[in-house]
Amino acid sequence: NPTIVLVGRPNVGKSTLFNRLTRTRDALVADQPGLTRDRHYGIGRVGERKYLVVDTAGFDPVAKDGIMHEMARQAEQAIAEADVLLFLVDGRAGLTPHDEQIAARLRRAGRPVLLVVNKAEGMDRGMAAADFHALGLGDPLPVSAAHGDGVRQLVDVALEPFPEEAEAEEGADAGPRVAIVGRPNVGKSTLVNALLGEERVIAFDMPGTTRDAIAIPFERDGRQYTLIDTAGLRRRGKVFEAVEKFSVIKTLQAIEQCNVVVLVLDAAQDISEQDAHIAGFVLDAGRALVVAVNKWDDVDDYRRERVKADIARKLNFLGFARFHYISALKSNGIGALLKSVDAAYAAAMVNLSTPRLTRTLQAALAKQAPPRHGVFRPKLRYAHQGGSNPPVVVIHGTALEHVPPSYVRFLEHSFIEAFRLQGTPLRIQFRTAH
Ligand code: GDP
Repeated sequence: NPTIVLVGRPNVGKSTLFNRLTRTRDALVADQPGLTRDRHYGIGRVGERKYLVVDTAGFDPVAKDGIMHEMARQAEQAIAEADVLLFLVDGRAGLTPHDEQIAARLRRAGRPVLLVVNKAEGMDRGMAAADFHALGLGDPLPVSAAHGDGVRQLVDVALEPFPEEAEAEEGADAGPRVAIVGRPNVGKSTLVNALLGEERVIAFDMPGTTRDAIAIPFERDGRQYTLIDTAGLRRRGKVFEAVEKFSVIKTLQAIEQCNVVVLVLDAAQDISEQDAHIAGFVLDAGRALVVAVNKWDDVDDYRRERVKADIARKLNFLGFARFHYISALKSNGIGALLKSVDAAYAAAMVNLSTPRLTRTLQAALAKQAPPRHGVFRPKLRYAHQGGSNPPVVVIHGTALEHVPPSYVRFLEHSFIEAFRLQGTPLRIQFRTAH
């Protein structure tokens, strides 16, 4: 998925544009209780096409220290990993010195830059652009992030140079594509080495560019898996080492490309905001998930209880996932972890027939009917499967816009329980019957 990075001084409308570009995904997860959302990274979609969006809030290229410097450092990393940069300026305010500083930085980025003039609703195209030709970044594209004018055209122009990738083959014998994600130092590389061992790695091709994720096929207990790497693994002697530093963009890419995520947490540390953000991305993407609480060898009983309570409180939205308490360093718990990966993969890829789904729907309706909403009484008639990874159940009926979120969750649980889907979320879509 191409990565679009938004850059610009404060108040030009980056977050408004970000929300518009990632809107479809926001709507899907907006009613999940307890979910921490990171507003700076998201997935957008035009038709079947997906792209990643990063908002580099508060980018000040001359900040030397403090929080502004740290934000600038993260923005620099996003710029380095971008496929295309959208440089936002404010068509109403006109050109400012801060814009010129940012432009100077972006001209050195070695990445394609599109100059976007925001707040251009109701303005003449030539007028909106006139000031900004001086930046030397090509023809300015006028948009209105608040009203949506020009946004679709902007996305089309931004994605134009990137050919659509064919979806990776789901060939039955290739097994699950697994991404191991987590914040720095939780033990991801150590877990990769525990999984890959010394001899089980099947030869794999290094990709053409360092920005592509590497897929490493391996076999364990007679089963095939493909590891989606996020950290630029290199083989050094007998072990794999990560050669790059932690990257949110690569983590998101890997989550999008895999079937099953293994989220690694560090038992010696409390759950951090970064852990919750990464978990939020997994949920957002609808991926099957297994959680590995690592370094279990390193903590005493008191700490074990404490981290379990911390997880229950801060990651309560991951109730669908299996949790494993492992030691990557001592290779404890790895086999059981992979069994859960297998189960989660099977659940994510399940095929459910229309009669079975409809019977399950009817059983759920008999147990608890959808509440009346004023004069409206939603009628849910039948269900069919609309997709996998995650499984999507499409329910046909009438007055479906009046089904409350709590009832949607009740339906999700009903399907998950009826089909014993372990480790995958499930999504409900409504379609009005005519
Ligand atoms: P990454 O940044 O997530 O890839 O983390 P690493 O795999 O580099 O591990 C970070 C540190 O934690 C290293 O010093 C590892 O040796 C240590 N570590 C990783 N897994 C375990 C474990 O299961 N138990 C203990 N005690 N230490 C571990």
